[in-house]
Amino acid sequence: MALTQTADDEHETPATRTPRVAIIGAGVSGLCMAIKLREAGIETFTIYEKSDRVAGTWRDNTYPGLFCDIPSRYFQYSFAPSPDWTRVFSPGPEIGRYLERIADGYGLRDKIAFGHQMTEARWTDGRWRLRSADGHEAEADFVVTGCGFLHQPVFPDIPGLDSFAGHTFHSSHWDHTVDLAGKRVGVLGTGSTGVQIVTAIAGGTRTLTQFTRTPQWIYPAPNPRYTRISRALHRRFPALSRRAYRGYQWTLETLLFPALVTAGFQRTLVDLTCRLNLRTVRDPALRAKLTPTYEAGCKRLVISAGYYRAVQRHGVDIVRAPIVRVEPGGVVTDDGVLHELDVLVLASGFDTHALVRPMELIGPEDHRLSDAWEDGPRGYGTVAVPGLPNLFMVMGPNSPVNDSSMFNVAETQVGYAMDMIQRWRRGEIGAMTATRAATDRFNRELGDAFTGTVWVSGCDSWYFGADGTAEIWPWLPQRHRELLDTPVLADYEVV
Ligand code: NAP
Repeated sequence: MALTQTADDEHETPATRTPRVAIIGAGVSGLCMAIKLREAGIETFTIYEKSDRVAGTWRDNTYPGLFCDIPSRYFQYSFAPSPDWTRVFSPGPEIGRYLERIADGYGLRDKIAFGHQMTEARWTDGRWRLRSADGHEAEADFVVTGCGFLHQPVFPDIPGLDSFAGHTFHSSHWDHTVDLAGKRVGVLGTGSTGVQIVTAIAGGTRTLTQFTRTPQWIYPAPNPRYTRISRALHRRFPALSRRAYRGYQWTLETLLFPALVTAGFQRTLVDLTCRLNLRTVRDPALRAKLTPTYEAGCKRLVISAGYYRAVQRHGVDIVRAPIVRVEPGGVVTDDGVLHELDVLVLASGFDTHALVRPMELIGPEDHRLSDAWEDGPRGYGTVAVPGLPNLFMVMGPNSPVNDSSMFNVAETQVGYAMDMIQRWRRGEIGAMTATRAATDRFNRELGDAFTGTVWVSGCDSWYFGADGTAEIWPWLPQRHRELLDTPVLADYEVV
């Protein structure tokens, strides 16, 4: 494959081209990209952030009981470990504050254009031209998207939802003005979010009803506090945090993640732990309502040591009857019962396929991402999309890499984008796009790899698109790192 140089840089010598980079989103991915550009001595970048604060999903989600289901000492940047995590699994606000400190510590605030929701990036005359909803325009040689996949709330399509006379809100936009004390509260959804909310608010409401369409397996990992001494030691000896990071990574990648990919003792252990946990529900009728009919790990494993205790409290009810409509007074299920409510929380998840929406990406010859992704996001290696040159996605298609830490995955993908940008900077390559052949091959291998994984063992989950195509990474994280370690230039073509 001939690699040529773009002809649009008369103003610079080929060996020292200065890439202008537009980063979309100031969450885990976007901040990581900015840090790595700065470390490489590249200052010609801007992060476009729709909101007025950094931290993405960790800014938006403020619901009671929010904590991360990946250990805190691993759910952070490997190059910026914090000694301050208060628990083994960090509470959500701590992760938000961590990202705020990262933005300050790396001096990134001046590089963030807050309040700019980018709506279009169009490849024109060998560069990207971007436009925001408020009419701001910019140019860039590279676009790196870091928009996340857990930020476009999904609202359930239930007749009459708008007619509800009480308070209703999505879990990702918690209404803190509503005092739940003394109220009849309903929670729709039993994913990680619904489980965490119910665990946190049970006992603090007049009644609590969880509408459970599909029960979840619950892995009862405890969440102990880190002592002051432990935090002081991590502050004094940062090597401890680095070791802890590697230790958690090794443990997850050796003991938990293989359980999801292949049948073996790890899968048996996870399954057994979840089943024993379910036995702690004493009432057989309630236990039956909480028993899933698929294998543990098929849907994203929910981590909670307190959920089953919470649902056995007085005044807490699990409703399995399907919802048929919402009325002003509450939720009606198909057994004809009206569940009277004052507050209805929608823990109904996210549109995990809306990776860059509402932004439209338009490559040469009017190649539109919205057309290419009509049937769902497809890409090359989780980072690139054919037809869109000099564009890299952090958390792109198939990016949930097993159940791994998003920080770790983002670092791998950012490293890949940096490698390509550095090659361009040195004049080794021009504007490049992944080939369709390489993309098709990648997706074929990916599709084949699902055989035997727990994700295809018989459940519906956000890991699959509407047409049943998988949108998660079917291998272990190690393979993701190996694939992205060095870009295979033969899989790219010059624009
Ligand atoms: P989710 O896993 O997609 O769960 C959505 C829930 O809403 C499901 O129980 C679903 O039922 C239910 N639902 C949706 N529409 C419904 C309808 N019309 N009627 C009845 N039930 C309906 O969403 P999530 O709990 O927000 O979690 C999403 C992901 O975010 C998680 O998998 C996890 O990766 C991440 N998360 C992480 C943390 C963390 O600790 N890091 C915390 C929270 C969330 P069905 O199962 O039947 O579809």
